[in-house]
Parts: sequence; C-alpha cells; structure tokens
Amino acid sequence: MSNKYDDVIIGLEVHIQLTNLKTKFFCSCSTDYRGEEANTHICPICIGLPGSLPVINKKAIEFATRLALALDCDINNSFWFYRKNYFYPDLPKGFQISQYNKAGGRAFGDGGKITIKLNDKKKDIILNRIHLEEDPARLVHKGTIATSPYTLVDYNRSGVTLIEIVSEPVIKTPEEAREYLKQLKSIVQYCGISNLDLEGSVRVDANISLKGHARSEVKNINSFKEVERALKWEIQRQKNQLKRGKELIQETRHWDDKRRITISLRTKEFEQDYRYFPEQDLVPIEVDDKFISGVKKELPEMPNARAKRFQKKYKLSEFDSEILVLDKDIADFFEVGIKIDKSFGPEEYKFYCNWLMGDVSRWLNENNITITETKLNPQQIVDLINFIKEGKITGKIGKSFVDEIMTKDSSISDILKKTGKQRISDKDKITEIVKEVIKENLKIVKDYEKNPKALQALIGKCMQKTKGQIDPEITKEIMLKLLKE
Ligand SMILES: [Zn+2]
Repeated sequence: MSNKYDDVIIGLEVHIQLTNLKTKFFCSCSTDYRGEEANTHICPICIGLPGSLPVINKKAIEFATRLALALDCDINNSFWFYRKNYFYPDLPKGFQISQYNKAGGRAFGDGGKITIKLNDKKKDIILNRIHLEEDPARLVHKGTIATSPYTLVDYNRSGVTLIEIVSEPVIKTPEEAREYLKQLKSIVQYCGISNLDLEGSVRVDANISLKGHARSEVKNINSFKEVERALKWEIQRQKNQLKRGKELIQETRHWDDKRRITISLRTKEFEQDYRYFPEQDLVPIEVDDKFISGVKKELPEMPNARAKRFQKKYKLSEFDSEILVLDKDIADFFEVGIKIDKSFGPEEYKFYCNWLMGDVSRWLNENNITITETKLNPQQIVDLINFIKEGKITGKIGKSFVDEIMTKDSSISDILKKTGKQRISDKDKITEIVKEVIKENLKIVKDYEKNPKALQALIGKCMQKTKGQIDPEITKEIMLKLLKE
C-alpha cells in the first residue's frame, strides 16, 4: 500500500526573532516590547522616516554566526543587504532590509543541515540557507484577518532582528516537519540567541505541493505547534481539489489558527515583484575567519554531541539521552543534580533522568512553564531518589510531592514531616491491612480465582487505604500468601 504522503513535498521557511538581543537590528530601540503599550518602542529609523540612517547591530552578526556554526552552514565572509520592496502597512519604508542570494548577493550562510529521528530512522534535513532581515510591524486584527472591520498597526516590533532558516523541499510528512522544528528549537536555545517560548517569536511559512502540481505557500503560522496541523490541513485540501478534477494554482494562503484552515490571500508574488536591489545606506559586512573562530570557541556543546556524551559518561540509553538534552535547561539541571551526591552511579543517573522526563516534564507541560521558572532545585530530586532507595517513602508518595516541590521551596524531609507520609513496611501492620481489604472486597477476591490480574486491583485497594504509603512489594507477597489460604 502506498503511503498517504508519498507524493508530498514540503519546504519550510522559519523566521526566528533574536529575542536575546537587547536592541533592534538597525537602531537602539529596546526589543523588550511584549506587553508594552503599542508604538512606544520606536524611533525615526524603525518607523522609516525620510533621512534616517540604519546602523547595524554587531551582536546580531555574532548571533547569526553562532546559529550558522551550529547548523553547519558555510558562512559567507562578505555580503551586503538588499531592499525587498513591497507595499503594506506593516512596512513603513516600503521595503524590508533583507539579504538576497541572487544577482551577486549572498545569504549569511549557505547549506547546513538538521538531523531528525523518526521511528528510529535518522534523516538529514538539508538547508538551503540562513539569512538576516528585519521584522515588520505587527498588525492587530479584531477577530480573524478575514472578518476584522479594521487593522491596527503596532511598530514596536518593526526592526527587530529576524533570522530566516530556509530548508530544501525535502520534508516528506507533517511529522518530519514537527521533528525538524523540535530540533531547530533546541539548537536555537543552545546557541543562546532566542527564547522561542515567547509569544510571536517564531513565524513559519510552508511551501507545500503534490508532485507535478503547483505549490501553495502557507504564510504566518505563528507557532511551531500549529505547523503540523496546518500542513495536514493543506495537504488534504490540495488532494481534495485534485479529486474534484480542479487543477491547483500557485498561491499564497494564510493559516487561520482560530478556524484551523488555510484561506487564499492572493495569487503568489514572484521574485521580480519585490524589485530587490542593494541597500545603499549600509556598508558591506565582513565576517572574517578570526571573528568566526572566536564565536566558535564560545559556543556550548550542541544537543547531538551532548546526547552522545550522556550515553557514554552516564550510561543512559540513546533514547533517554536524546530526550533529556532537547531542553538545555533540563539537561543542565540534570548535570548539576547528579553531581550533588557523590555516591550516585548509573542506576541513580537513570532514576534522576526518569524524574525529569516523567513527572517533572509532565508538570511543566501541564502548567506551560519552563524548569527555570519553577522552585524546583536539584537537591530535591536527589533526596527523592535517596528516600525511596532507603525505603522511607514509596515511589507513589514521592510522586505526590511533585506539585509542592515545583511551587514551593520546601525540602523533602520537611514535606515528609508535614504530611506524615511514611512508607509502611512493618509486616504485621501490612498483614492487618491486607486482611481488611480481603474482607471488604470479596467480589474482587472471587474474580481473582479466574483472573490473576485482579491481584493488582486488591493491591490498589491497600494503596488507597493507606494513601500510597504501603510498600507495594511486601503487600504483594503477603496478599498472595493470604489469598492461597
Ligand atoms: Zn528604533
């Protein structure tokens, strides 16, 4: 049977704001505009007043160099900026300062790759280029873009530095796109150039086509999470069109994330419509090898290399290491934590990793925050592991502490004192509880005669009765003994 994505071709253009830059690309306005009143972070340069002159932010070049190195791009030692002309209210100058890799122009870096892993298979997603450009202003609509009676323009965002990462059209499925973005997000975090969890810090344009047909460009997908959904929808739309006997046209579509559909915006602009020409107000930029090697020295270990080191040094599995390193803050937390207790070895490293990837990550996802925003400290996980190992608490009791350690600065022994939750391991006490549970649950005991799996339900009842404090192993042993009698 053929795969439902056999004939799909996807290329992604990802725009990332360099949110860790303090000032905009060509002026000294602050980039910290989120939550601020509209049009308060602006100056003659970023609102494009006649006679104003842009001055390049050197740090932006350094940040782009970091990313280019991490993605394995060939950095161009000299380039100049271009004006990309178009007429739209988000662009007060009537052009965007960008880079152009034709007509003698060059991108910041050519080529490069991001390695993804899906169903245990590795694949390199080859990049076409990365380049720098300025962010346009933000248009604010009432409701959706299609139904809003007016548009408000906020120039606070105008002139913030963007880096665009353009993949080759080699992505075959929406799932591959999702993995690609996951790795890209991780690499960007390791480079220390942007916080992609900030609202509006990423925008993705996706080129989607079915082999032999015209492609559509879906614009302004505003979060990585939406990309997979938008791709699935657009692929289905194109297939349905063809099924109805209609040919596809080359067009630009907009992803409407409220209605979760793409809508046609306009027929696609062609490159000549943008009338690219060199930006004469900026001198050519030189990025020499000495500068590049200086940046390279400061780059931290990247996630791929780190995962390999975690396998070797901490004896974690390939699977565990690859997930653990994905979020740099969590991986840093791990490396600090496991060093606190000198007696820790591979067994405890694995426990530590399990806590972070399991209960802690689940809590972070549910509350939509990062580990650095919580009260969790590495010592607490060390104590959890030791207390469980020493038999003071069960794993189940440990799990019930997660909410408290994430939100309050309390030590595990304090929580233990406060809640009075201790592991029950005394055999006489356990026998007593098991006897009670058997008496109260004769129906389950009867089930057990036919279905040995009912044992788990009985142990569950003991857990319930003791609020998770009873030792599951000893309980099981005594339960089996008593059931035989
Ligand atoms: Zn400005």
